Amino acid sequence: MRTGKQYLKSLNDGRTVILDGEVVGNVLEHPAFAKVARTMSELFDIAADPANGMQFHSEEIDGPANRTFAAPRTQEELVLRRQAIEKWAKHTHGWVGRSPDHVGTFFAAFGSHPDVFKNEERDFAGNVERYYKKILSENLYLSYAIIPPQVSRATTASGWEGEYLQVGVVRETEEGIVVRGSQMLATGAAIADEVFVTCIKPLGPDDVDFAVSFAIPVATDGLKLYCRRPFAPAATSDFDYPLTSHYDEPDALVVFDDVLIPWDRVFINRNIDTLRRQFFDTGAHALGNWQAQIRFSTKLKFIASVARKVTQVNGTDKIPGVQEKLGELAAIVQSVESAVLAAEYTATTDDAGMRVPGKSALYGAMGLQSETYPRVISILRDLVGGGVLQLPSSVADMTSSVTRPDMERYVQSPGVTSEERVKLFKLAWDIIGSEFAGRHQQYEMFYAGAPFVVRGAYTYRNYGYDALVAELDTFLGSYGIDGTTASEGI
Ligand SMILES: Cc1cc2nc3c(=O)[nH]c(=O)nc-3n(C[C@H](O)[C@H](O)[C@H](O)COP(=O)(O)OP(=O)(O)OC[C@H]3O[C@@H](n4cnc5c(N)ncnc54)[C@H](O)[C@@H]3O)c2cc1C
Repeated sequence: MRTGKQYLKSLNDGRTVILDGEVVGNVLEHPAFAKVARTMSELFDIAADPANGMQFHSEEIDGPANRTFAAPRTQEELVLRRQAIEKWAKHTHGWVGRSPDHVGTFFAAFGSHPDVFKNEERDFAGNVERYYKKILSENLYLSYAIIPPQVSRATTASGWEGEYLQVGVVRETEEGIVVRGSQMLATGAAIADEVFVTCIKPLGPDDVDFAVSFAIPVATDGLKLYCRRPFAPAATSDFDYPLTSHYDEPDALVVFDDVLIPWDRVFINRNIDTLRRQFFDTGAHALGNWQAQIRFSTKLKFIASVARKVTQVNGTDKIPGVQEKLGELAAIVQSVESAVLAAEYTATTDDAGMRVPGKSALYGAMGLQSETYPRVISILRDLVGGGVLQLPSSVADMTSSVTRPDMERYVQSPGVTSEERVKLFKLAWDIIGSEFAGRHQQYEMFYAGAPFVVRGAYTYRNYGYDALVAELDTFLGSYGIDGTTASEGI
């Protein structure tokens, strides 16, 4: 299996990553990307080491592959898959949202349901199968851009002024389709191998040109990544910003300047119906978002541990009111892990033989995520008080002989050295207050879609209201004006 070193080596490939009006040369030499790329390489090394139990024998490629890219066929495989995802998530404490297991999981489901992509003119089903094998055999890191740019949400792209603002097909050639336009916010693309591009938002009949699905190397002619302001370069040290410095995944607007997508990289071409079905008839949306919840649960547990330690250091943990706050935090954090396990427990096997996590439990947790995460952050914010600001400006104040004595005398707690205290509270600030922290709040609230979409389209539709209402109707039908009583009726 590909190692971290091999992954890093492949990144200097002439990709067009843009920051501050300029094309970044080698991303590995730029402070915005170097450390987070190294974090990803560590993940690949963990997966490549058989001792970590993250490999499996893939029948598709008849060889060893990354367990997080496996399509689970049995309950045992589903459990092993969760454990492999947890292994990676624990390495980053859940602070890397789009590690390679995220989009890789979607392709595990696509590759197991090639029929969904079947097309009379071209072998798109075969393309999906072959591409999934490529991911397995090359241990690829994919990012994705599946949301139209935020131009106007009053209409879909066909109603916008200006042609091809959203990525769409301009023309077809013998070699493939030529696409132009943009798609919003591909997290990780600047340091990924490939980018998967499609549209998960519902489109209308006039949007057919935008109904595409394809994957291409990031270093493709005409593909440009406009990255948001990175936070890692401003991180003065690991000690000052322990999360920002290692886990600042870049987010980028993806722009296509008439990019040729070879036919073998196309999965859907101008087909609105298949566009929706790729996510929902393959089980990809459930399997992919289950990966995200496993990662989310790992992160919440990490935040809870910081909250608990802060109260210990500050000597507030014996106060009943503080214990109640820690109790609320524990309840929220546990509910997410419970949903992950409940989705595993209620998994079903679909027509293609793939185990799909239980949707009611999965989408139930996701429906609350836009409140869960801000609430968790708010509790930690409450517990740390001003301690996250009563801190030295940087690690330099801790090492300078002029300032160190004051730090050791005034910024410490009973039985806790100055270094230990400052370290903990700087970590807390990177969770609640740094720019990285702000981006994470936005990420957790929006990564699976705006909250109105998650609740309306996923949680509501998958809850199973029909069965509940049927039971209610049985009860209501058991008594009436003829004098039948409810107890007799039941
Ligand atoms: C940090 C971060 C990382 C991301 N990474 C990725 C990625 O890797 N790949 C990717 O494809 N996407 C990514 N996204 C994009 C993400 O998928 C979108 O942000 C998400 O789908 C919501 O779309 P939007 O931001 O356009 O919000 P909008 O759809 O514009 O909604 C914004 C708000 O407008 C209101 N609103 C809009 N329409 C309605 C309506 N019809 N009814 C009610 N209220 C409405 C709601 O208040 C809603 O919350 C990322 C986003 C963030 C923040």
